[in-house]
Amino acid sequence: MNYIYKYANNKFYGGNYYKILSRDGYKCVNCGSTDNLNVHHIIGLRDNDSRSVDISSMVTLCRKCHSKEHYMPNSIVTDLILENIGFDFILKKFINEIRNNLHAKKHETTHKYL
Ligand SMILES: [Zn+2]
Ligand SMILES: [Zn+2]
Repeated sequence: MNYIYKYANNKFYGGNYYKILSRDGYKCVNCGSTDNLNVHHIIGLRDNDSRSVDISSMVTLCRKCHSKEHYMPNSIVTDLILENIGFDFILKKFINEIRNNLHAKKHETTHKYL
Protein backbone atom coordinates (compact mmCIF):
# COMPACT_ATOMS: atom_id res chain seq x y z
CA MET A 1 0.00 0.00 0.00
CA ASN A 2 2.87 2.35 -0.79
CA TYR A 3 0.60 4.72 -2.63
CA ILE A 4 -1.02 5.63 0.68
CA TYR A 5 2.21 6.85 2.22
CA LYS A 6 2.58 9.50 -0.40
CA TYR A 7 -0.59 11.15 0.90
CA ALA A 8 -0.95 10.13 4.52
CA ASN A 9 1.11 12.89 6.07
CA ASN A 10 0.21 15.46 3.50
CA LYS A 11 -1.11 18.69 5.04
CA PHE A 12 -3.99 18.57 2.57
CA TYR A 13 -5.60 15.92 4.78
CA GLY A 14 -5.16 17.62 8.14
CA GLY A 15 -3.67 14.50 9.72
CA ASN A 16 -6.95 12.64 9.16
CA TYR A 17 -5.96 10.43 6.24
CA TYR A 18 -5.94 7.12 8.11
CA LYS A 19 -9.03 8.08 10.09
CA ILE A 20 -10.96 8.43 6.83
CA LEU A 21 -9.73 5.10 5.47
CA SER A 22 -10.47 3.38 8.76
CA ARG A 23 -13.95 4.91 9.11
CA ASP A 24 -14.81 3.81 5.56
CA GLY A 25 -13.45 0.29 6.18
CA TYR A 26 -10.57 0.66 3.70
CA LYS A 27 -13.13 0.51 0.86
CA CYS A 28 -14.36 2.90 -1.78
CA VAL A 29 -17.66 4.33 -0.46
CA ASN A 30 -19.06 4.30 -3.99
CA CYS A 31 -18.23 0.84 -5.39
CA GLY A 32 -16.68 -1.05 -2.47
CA SER A 33 -13.36 -1.59 -4.21
CA THR A 34 -10.30 -1.96 -2.01
CA ASP A 35 -7.81 -1.16 -4.78
CA ASN A 36 -5.94 2.09 -5.19
CA LEU A 37 -7.80 4.01 -2.54
CA ASN A 38 -7.71 7.80 -2.36
CA VAL A 39 -9.16 10.23 0.14
CA HIS A 40 -11.38 12.74 -1.60
CA HIS A 41 -12.22 16.24 -0.34
CA ILE A 42 -15.99 16.48 -0.70
CA ILE A 43 -16.06 20.24 -0.49
CA GLY A 44 -12.81 20.78 -2.28
CA LEU A 45 -9.62 21.90 -0.71
CA ARG A 46 -9.34 25.53 0.30
CA ASP A 47 -6.37 27.19 1.88
CA ASN A 48 -6.84 28.23 5.48
CA ASP A 49 -10.29 26.65 5.68
CA SER A 50 -10.42 23.90 8.28
CA ARG A 51 -13.74 22.64 6.89
CA SER A 52 -11.84 21.29 3.88
CA VAL A 53 -9.87 18.86 6.01
CA ASP A 54 -12.52 18.04 8.60
CA ILE A 55 -13.08 14.30 8.94
CA SER A 56 -16.73 14.77 7.87
CA SER A 57 -15.62 16.49 4.68
CA MET A 58 -13.52 13.67 3.25
CA VAL A 59 -14.38 10.21 1.90
CA THR A 60 -12.52 7.16 0.65
CA LEU A 61 -12.83 6.57 -3.08
CA CYS A 62 -10.98 4.16 -5.34
CA ARG A 63 -8.92 5.82 -7.99
CA LYS A 64 -11.47 5.03 -10.69
CA CYS A 65 -14.43 6.54 -8.81
CA HIS A 66 -12.27 9.41 -7.63
CA SER A 67 -11.36 10.29 -11.17
CA LYS A 68 -15.02 10.19 -12.20
CA GLU A 69 -15.94 12.43 -9.30
CA HIS A 70 -13.51 15.05 -10.45
CA TYR A 71 -14.70 14.90 -14.01
CA MET A 72 -18.42 14.81 -13.15
CA PRO A 73 -19.07 16.63 -9.88
CA ASN A 74 -22.21 15.48 -8.02
CA SER A 75 -22.46 12.18 -9.91
CA ILE A 76 -20.62 9.77 -7.61
CA VAL A 77 -20.86 10.87 -4.01
CA THR A 78 -24.60 10.83 -3.49
CA ASP A 79 -26.53 12.17 -0.51
CA LEU A 80 -27.20 8.58 0.59
CA ILE A 81 -23.50 7.78 0.69
CA LEU A 82 -22.83 10.99 2.56
CA GLU A 83 -25.52 10.14 5.09
CA ASN A 84 -24.09 6.66 5.60
CA ILE A 85 -20.74 8.09 6.57
CA GLY A 86 -22.24 10.62 8.98
CA PHE A 87 -21.87 13.63 6.78
CA ASP A 88 -22.88 16.97 8.25
CA PHE A 89 -25.65 18.32 6.04
CA ILE A 90 -25.33 21.75 7.58
CA LEU A 91 -22.35 22.09 5.29
CA LYS A 92 -24.34 21.18 2.21
CA LYS A 93 -25.03 24.68 0.98
CA PHE A 94 -21.36 25.52 1.31
CA ILE A 95 -20.47 22.33 -0.52
CA ASN A 96 -22.73 23.09 -3.43
CA GLU A 97 -21.13 26.49 -3.79
CA ILE A 98 -17.70 24.93 -3.81
CA ARG A 99 -18.78 22.25 -6.26
CA ASN A 100 -20.05 24.88 -8.63
CA ASN A 101 -16.71 26.61 -8.41
CA LEU A 102 -14.90 23.33 -8.88
CA HIS A 103 -17.03 22.48 -11.86
CA ALA A 104 -16.03 25.76 -13.47
CA LYS A 105 -12.37 24.93 -13.16
CA LYS A 106 -12.45 21.14 -13.13
CA HIS A 107 -9.52 20.82 -15.44
CA GLU A 108 -7.32 22.75 -13.06
CA THR A 109 -8.36 20.73 -10.04
CA THR A 110 -8.56 17.22 -11.43
CA HIS A 111 -4.95 16.34 -10.85
CA LYS A 112 -4.18 18.70 -8.02
CA TYR A 113 -6.61 17.08 -5.58
CA LEU A 114 -6.10 13.42 -6.34
ZN1 LIG B 1 -14.85 2.99 -6.42
ZN1 LIG C 1 -10.78 14.26 -4.80
